[in-house]
Amino acid sequence: MRPYQELYESGELKERAEKAAALLRSCSLCPRNCRADRTKGPSGACRSSDALKISSILPHFGEEPPFTGVKGAGAVFFSDCNLKCVYCQNHEISWEGWGRFHAPEELADAMLDLQKQGCHNIDLVSPTHVVPQLLKALDIAAGKGLSIPLIYNSGGYDSVPVLKLLEGVVDIYLPDMKYWDAETGEGFSGIADYPRHNQAAVKEMFRQVGPIQINKDGIAQKGLMVRHLILPNRFQETFYILKFIRDQLSREVAVSLMSQYHPGFKARDIEILNRPISRDEYDTVLEWFEELGLENGYRQDLSSPGFGLPSFRRGAESPFQWEESGNNEQGAVARGRGAGCGIIKQLTSPWPPFLRGNISEIPLWRGVSQKFPPGKGGSRGV
Ligand code: SF4
Repeated sequence: MRPYQELYESGELKERAEKAAALLRSCSLCPRNCRADRTKGPSGACRSSDALKISSILPHFGEEPPFTGVKGAGAVFFSDCNLKCVYCQNHEISWEGWGRFHAPEELADAMLDLQKQGCHNIDLVSPTHVVPQLLKALDIAAGKGLSIPLIYNSGGYDSVPVLKLLEGVVDIYLPDMKYWDAETGEGFSGIADYPRHNQAAVKEMFRQVGPIQINKDGIAQKGLMVRHLILPNRFQETFYILKFIRDQLSREVAVSLMSQYHPGFKARDIEILNRPISRDEYDTVLEWFEELGLENGYRQDLSSPGFGLPSFRRGAESPFQWEESGNNEQGAVARGRGAGCGIIKQLTSPWPPFLRGNISEIPLWRGVSQKFPPGKGGSRGV
C-alpha cells in the first residue's frame, strides 16, 4: 500500500487537505508569501484563486525514462505559476493562464483514468500554488482506488512548511534547481531569494524521500531527482548547484542535466539569453558532474534544439506535437526511448571530450566577471 493510501485510510489525508486549504485565505503556499485572500478571486503573484485550473491532462512521453517508461507519465499541467521565468516554454499556461477550471472530483476521475490507461505515475506539473486543491482531489481518488506513485514536479520555489504537509503523500519529488545567484533569480524569474528557498526546499524533499528508487522494470517508485536547465552564459552556476547536491544531499541523488534551453518568449529580447547553450558549455557541465563524483543522472542530446516545445493553445489534449501521433520520426523516437523534450540518456555512456575553451573569461550577469572553474582560481571559496 502506498503511503498516501495509508493516509487516506486513517483520515489524515483529508486533514492535510483542510490544513492546506486554510492557507488560501492569507496565502503562504510558496515563499513569495503574498498573504492574498485567494478565496475572493485570482490574486497574489500567481494570479490564482482557490479554484483549480488545469491546462492539460495526458499520458506524457517527455519526462526522464524512469517516469515515462513505456506507457507514459500521467501528466497534469496546472495553469498559472508562482514563478515568472522570462524563458518559460510553458508561458501560455504559466503567464497567460490558459486552461479550464476543474472540480476536485473531476481531477480525481482524470487521475484514475490515467491509471487505467497504464500510466506509471501521476505527474503533477507546477503544483506549488494548488497544493490544497490537489490534496482534496487526491483524497477522493485514493478512496476510489488510485495507487500509482505521485510525482511533485515543481519549479523548486516551494515552502518548507507546505512540503511538510506533503510528507507521506508525495512519492517522488522532481524539483528544478534553477539558479545559484540571487541576481540571476531576480533577473530571470523575478525572485531574488529563489536560491535560498530552493535549497531549503530540496533538502526537505530529500529528507522525506531519499534517493530515487527504481523497480525491476526501470520505473521510479520513490525518491528525489533534481532537474537543472543549463542557461547560456550562466552555466557556471551549474557548478555550485552540483556541488550543493553532492555536499548537502548525496552523491547518489539523480540529476537531470537539461540542454533543451530555447530562447523563446521574453528571452528573445535579453542579449545573454538569446541563444541555445553551446556544445562547450554543455560538455563543461558534464565534466564537472564527473569531477564532483556525482553518481546518477541523465543528460540530453544537443542535436535537436527546440524539440519538444509545447503549444498549449493547440488543444488541451495535445500540447506536444510529437505526442499527438506516433507518425513523425521524433514522436516515434520519443515513444520508443521513453524520452522527449530532447533525447535523454542515462549517464552511463562515455563522457565526451572536455572542451573547456575560454570559459574563464565568460562574462556573467550584469557584466560581473569571475574566474572559473571555481576551486581553480575562483573567488567564491568553494
Ligand atoms: S501561491 Fe501564489 S498567492 Fe500564494 S504565496 Fe505563492 S505566489 Fe503568492
